[in-house]
Amino acid sequence: MENSCLFCRIVAGEIPATVVHRTDTTLAFRDIDPKAPSHVLVIPVTHHANVIELAADPAAAADVLATAAKVAELEGLADGFRVIFNTGAHGGQEVFHVHAHVVGGAPLGPMLARR
Ligand code: AMP
Ligand code: ZN
Repeated sequence: MENSCLFCRIVAGEIPATVVHRTDTTLAFRDIDPKAPSHVLVIPVTHHANVIELAADPAAAADVLATAAKVAELEGLADGFRVIFNTGAHGGQEVFHVHAHVVGGAPLGPMLARR
């Protein structure tokens, strides 16, 4: 655990979160500022800063994806959803504990706004 990391502190129970699902290796909780009717963050319980670090730990990466799929099922997103890993400055990453955004519950529109 990294004491300065917001999501490590959620895993430790030091900061509250609305938990949707948990496994031995992952935690899924509602985004505090949802961008869609369903917006859940899936994290590995161990600290990995971003998706590049997660990819270097294949077991953790597989567990995060499996939990994302489980969340979609639990949230009733049978009509579709998105899984997003914002990465780095251009990706708009704000919290540097890797998290998959699982968003859905309504048509999400184009993947990116046209410039
Ligand atoms: P990102 O920009 O990909 O790093 O996304 C960070 C996400 O974390 C944003 O969608 C925030 O709304 C969300 N967030 C920040 N603080 C919390 C919190 N305490 N509990 C749940 N979600 C949070
Ligand atoms: Zn962390």
